[in-house]
Amino acid sequence: MRPEILYPLFAPATSLKGVGPKVAPLVEKLAGPLVRDLMFLAPQSLIHRPVVTAETAREGEVQTLHVVIDAHLPPGRGSQPYRIRAFDGTGFLTLAWFKVHGDHLARANPVGAQRAVSGKIERFGGELQMAHPDYLVPMERAEEIPTREAVYPATAGLPPRTVRRLAHEALARAANLPEWQDPAWMAREGFPSWHEALTALHNPSTDADLSPEAPFRRRLAYDELFAHQLAMARRKSVRRSHPAPAIAPSPLAGRVEGDLPFALTGAQQRSLIEVRADLASGERMSRLLQGDVGAGKTVVAMLAMADVAAAGFQSALMAPTEILARQHFETLAAPLKAHGVEVILLTGRDKGAVRAEKLAALADGRAAVAVGTHALFQDEVQFRALALAVIDEQHRFGVNERQRLQEKGRATHLLAMSATPIPRTLELTVYGDLDVSRLDEKPPGRTPVATRAVPMSRLGEIVMRLKQAAAAGAQAFWICPLVAESELSDLAAAEARAADLRQVLGAGVVGLIHGRLAPAEKDAVMAEFAEGRLSVLVATTVVEVGVNVPNATIMVIEQAERFGLAQLHQLRGRVGRSTRESSCVLLYDPPLSKTAEARLDILRRTDDGFLIAEKDLELRGGGDPLGLKQSGFPAYRLADPVAHRDLIAVAADDARLVLARDPDLTSPRGKAIKVLEALFDWRADSGIAEVG
Ligand code: ADP
Ligand code: MG
Repeated sequence: MRPEILYPLFAPATSLKGVGPKVAPLVEKLAGPLVRDLMFLAPQSLIHRPVVTAETAREGEVQTLHVVIDAHLPPGRGSQPYRIRAFDGTGFLTLAWFKVHGDHLARANPVGAQRAVSGKIERFGGELQMAHPDYLVPMERAEEIPTREAVYPATAGLPPRTVRRLAHEALARAANLPEWQDPAWMAREGFPSWHEALTALHNPSTDADLSPEAPFRRRLAYDELFAHQLAMARRKSVRRSHPAPAIAPSPLAGRVEGDLPFALTGAQQRSLIEVRADLASGERMSRLLQGDVGAGKTVVAMLAMADVAAAGFQSALMAPTEILARQHFETLAAPLKAHGVEVILLTGRDKGAVRAEKLAALADGRAAVAVGTHALFQDEVQFRALALAVIDEQHRFGVNERQRLQEKGRATHLLAMSATPIPRTLELTVYGDLDVSRLDEKPPGRTPVATRAVPMSRLGEIVMRLKQAAAAGAQAFWICPLVAESELSDLAAAEARAADLRQVLGAGVVGLIHGRLAPAEKDAVMAEFAEGRLSVLVATTVVEVGVNVPNATIMVIEQAERFGLAQLHQLRGRVGRSTRESSCVLLYDPPLSKTAEARLDILRRTDDGFLIAEKDLELRGGGDPLGLKQSGFPAYRLADPVAHRDLIAVAADDARLVLARDPDLTSPRGKAIKVLEALFDWRADSGIAEVG
């Protein structure tokens, strides 16, 4: 329920003056549908409007002049602007408008009138010009022109002045809300009250006021982080309150482990202990297993599934593609079957009697483990006693899909797996509602992938080396540039590259895979490559994350400077999966920007995904280099997960403490916190495991 005090803020933006059917969609696109959304829109920069004269005016800058209207120069032809010549005692200034309707300019600004005018000054053939002044007002209203002005984010069709006015009107609707933060902590941090902070947000007067470090910005960011952490802490506790079968570590799993041709790494052992503690707790597990490609997540899941089978329950492992599902099946089937645990593979390909038999085995419990794709959560699939759902590459599935699989059991533990390492500092914001295990140690015996950055001018040389390597039996991925704007041009580039390579290497040994192929076609090309019939696989970035082709030892990435660090790391992770030397060639188009150079340099120096994620965060430019959106990263309005990362853990602790002391939020602070929760309304967020 939304507190009454917030009603004005949750009114539609159309309740603001001037937001009609034309403007409303623009406002919604820019900020959101509500007054609240405009209220939280933060200015990004500051315009200074110094008062100058025609003599002291500086080209290219926004300035204000006090002038007398000298002459009107209506356009001679259609495409010419309407011009007004003005004079200020030191020189002339021409004001220009391109689309003028009617004669209001002439009527409002008669010759001889004194005017204050403000906007960007340009010089045109020795003449000072101002096209479309931001302000043109009678002298007696000159003080209406601010000397400093906040600049808000923009969207086409909404004049900056309108956005500013709407943001301020939204601010005016904000009441002085009861304080929800702890007064002692506020005093320590030098935080102003919420209303003061919001007022300061919309009235910056120095560049320091735009910094995320400004105390009022930190306060507003903290509010948001705290509200988000509260929502996640609540979800976590709701989930905990669901009972689930208590499953103990089993001798069976011990035997499966004993048969492995290797010993578990320390990180695998730690993660397994964490998973087992959850499984044995009697409460529903919601755990994320995070670890680089090749860190050995599958084995951890397999041993958990062995425990589940030993307890008489079933597990399901769901992978995003058929080829991955099949690889998992091949990994799991033999070790588990050797100890009497029946494993089946269920994909969309199974039809008729074969499919019926598999379904029967799941329904009557003969099969304790099902590995598959989306086919697993179809309606006909019934489990006798599903107790564990394992989701590989969890970000590839929607919340609903994960949920549908979990709902196949009455109380199903969840183990999600991800190969996108998230920096520790961000873990709480992305996965705050999950428990996280980190596989931050690679299995031994892997030689690091030798990584080099090579300018595109040496392409010919790289191709010749590739030819030699292929002749000696090596296999290579060749990733083509991401041209971003159009999938078609991506494809054209990849096709051209494949054609080039076929010329040199031979037509039969170069495969091509891209986003426009049907899933079955993709699988077929991948299979050819996996079986060694192709030497080179040219791909746009669609190559499935996690695909395992141990014989592939060469990775070439074209225009590597266009990829994010995390993405480059993911791509490189597809080689170096055997004891043989692997190499990665990062082809780039010079000159490299400083950031691009730093990125490629980090890749050359380390292959630790967690470290790379931290570095990526430090180097973060624009865009979404961490793939955070894909990982379900919350879209904060005011908090900057990098600049405010020191506040994240504090907010998480604070949220936990508040809920522990006052779960129903009935104390005075609790009541105020309810208002805060409603204000941010965190529902649609990471939602990795929105269960029951
Ligand atoms: P992930 O799913 O994390 O990318 P996998 O589970 O597919 O990684 O494991 C990658 C490879 O490493 C597999 O061939 C697996 O058998 C092997 N492996 C896993 N754990 C170990 C270990 N502790 N020591 C040696 N090899 C391991
Ligand atoms: Mg995997």
